This record gives sequence, structure tokens and C-alpha cells, in this order.
Amino acid sequence: MIQQAVATVEPQWQKELKQSFTRPEELLRFLNIEPQGLEADFAARDLFAMRVPRPFANLMTKGDLNDPLLKQVLPLKEEFKQVPGYVADPLAEHKSALPGLLHKYKSRVLVVFRGGCAVNCRYCFRRHFPYQDNNVNKAQLLEHIQYLRDHAEVNEVILSGGDPLMAKDEHVAWFINELEAIPHILRLRIHSRLPVVIPSRLTSNLIDTLASSRLKAVLVLHINHANEISDELAKACRSVREKGIWLLNQAVLLSGINHELEDQINLSEALFAADIQPYYLHLLDKVAGASHFDLPETDALGLYQAMMAALPGFLLPRLVREIGGEASKTPVLP
Ligand SMILES: *Cc1c(COP(=O)(O)O)cnc(C)c1O
Ligand code: SF4
Repeated sequence: MIQQAVATVEPQWQKELKQSFTRPEELLRFLNIEPQGLEADFAARDLFAMRVPRPFANLMTKGDLNDPLLKQVLPLKEEFKQVPGYVADPLAEHKSALPGLLHKYKSRVLVVFRGGCAVNCRYCFRRHFPYQDNNVNKAQLLEHIQYLRDHAEVNEVILSGGDPLMAKDEHVAWFINELEAIPHILRLRIHSRLPVVIPSRLTSNLIDTLASSRLKAVLVLHINHANEISDELAKACRSVREKGIWLLNQAVLLSGINHELEDQINLSEALFAADIQPYYLHLLDKVAGASHFDLPETDALGLYQAMMAALPGFLLPRLVREIGGEASKTPVLP
């Protein structure tokens, strides 16, 4: 019996991951919202599964169907709407250099380190991408290592996904170790939303691995609204910064969620209070099923102009969009 207890110590974050809401009815009941009459909305689960970790649901306001966190994750009948210009694969990502490796920008390579995510955001540009079944295995990652050895112009590796922090700490540590052996790689970047929806994902193990690496580590979180920053997340972020790891944020501009000036000011202020620097504000990628989250470009520009007048430069994210074939993200300027 003692043996059993010692054999598998499952990290807290994995336990919390397993307790996620996957049925809209359950999530709404948890929020004291009557799910009756919303069946047509729930059917959108067939287009893209629902997945909401409990720590994220805990940040939603009880009884409010318009809560800005809930609206990011609740299936809606609007997702069935077919709108010209909104397509399955807006970034044409299927043209990768190797399976799971994207080398679009000269100095940095993006590795699809893990397929799935802890949370399924309804606006996700990968909602039609079969990434759940697209886990890159160790042999493929070793091919990535070889590719990186052969490409001296690359100095930064980005772990992305899905969500790269769905991988276990040991797996992340193994890959970092492989990268460290390539002299021209200087930086490691991790793009993840997992610590936002399950703050216990920032284990001391992971933080120590990043802090002790020869590579300069940058963690880029994905937070769209100030309410997503719990005390627990802010505390974890402070310990990340104390260890010398950079913390940035990218958000997506979402109609009905963060399109008001006040939302953006509150977000930047809350990020800075948690030691996170705003990096990018992305215009929505035009993915089929997410058109109701999009904002007309003139409105986005008007909002950005107001943000420029309201925020210090270092709290102003760069407004960008992604255009296939361009050498970088494309700035959008008023
Ligand atoms: C967004 C992105 C990057 C990173 O771009 P930065 O401007 O350096 O943040 C790298 N590779 C791919 C394929 C990307 O989509
Ligand atoms: S965490 Fe990122 S990749 Fe995953 S569903 Fe949300 S937006 Fe998409």
C-alpha cells in the first residue's frame, strides 16, 4: 500500500486538468445559470469540443451569461454561421518545414510541441485543425533538433501548440537540454495559456528548469481580460520574474469581450501589476465559426488610437494581424 502511494505522484495541475468542464449544462449549473433553451447553442460542441478547467470557471461571475470569460469558452449557435472570408485554415499552416515545425520568420522557429489545449477558446484559429491527434513524438522532435543544427540563422525556438505546457515537466526539460547543445540557439520562448486557466501549472520544477537554462527564457501568456488574472496566477508570475524569466502577454481583440477602451486599460494595468508586459494585441484570424468575435477594422483602429492616448508606451501592446507569407506579424496602425 505504501508502494502504491510512492509510485505515482500526479502533479496538482494534472488533477485539475482532469476535472475540467466538458459539458455546457454542467458549467452553467455551476454558475447558477439555467441551461434550458440553450440546446441549439450547445450543439456547437460538435464543431469544436468544450473544455473549461475549474480554476478558470471560478473566475466567472455567477449568474452572468455575459461574463467575458464565459463568452470565450461557451459554445454558441453563431458558430454555425457561414460567412464569406472566414475559412477553416486562415493561416495556411499546413505548409510546415517538417511535421510540427514552422519556420516562417527568419530568426525563429515555432515547434508544435503538444497538440491539445487545457481550454478550448471558441475563437481559436486552430479550431478546425486536427491538432488533438497531432502530437509530435520524440523521434520527430529529434528531427527538429537536427533541422535547428542545420539552420544557423535561427537563434530562438518557440514552443507552441496546442499548448506546449500540456507536456510534462520532464519532457520540457528533455527538449531544453537538447536545444542547449546547439550553440546558435540563444532564446527559448514558450507560448502558453495553461497557467492562466490552471495556475498550478507553473510548478517550481518548471520554473527552475527555465531559470537554470543557458537559454534566455521567455514565457508568453495569453490573457484577454483582466478578470483572468487570479491572485494565484499573479503570485506565480511574480516568482517567475524573480527567477529572471521574461513574462509577456498576447491577447486577441474580441468583440463583446475586450473591445472597450476600459477593458484594454484594465487588462494592461492588471498585467503590469502581475509583472507581465503586454506584447501583442492580435486582430482575430478569420476562422470559420468565429465571425461573431470579429470587430470591424475601423473600430479596432479607433480603439487603438484611444489606447495610445490612455496608456504609457510600455503598457501598449502592438496591434498586429497575421498575413500568410509575410516576413513578420503585420502592424496595424491608425
Ligand atoms: C507569431 C509567430 C512567431 C513569433 O513571432 P514574433 O513576432 O517573434 O512574436 C514565430 N513563428 C510563427 C510561425 C508565428 O506564427
Ligand atoms: S489556448 Fe490557444 S491554441 Fe488553445 S484553444 Fe485557446 S486560443 Fe486556441
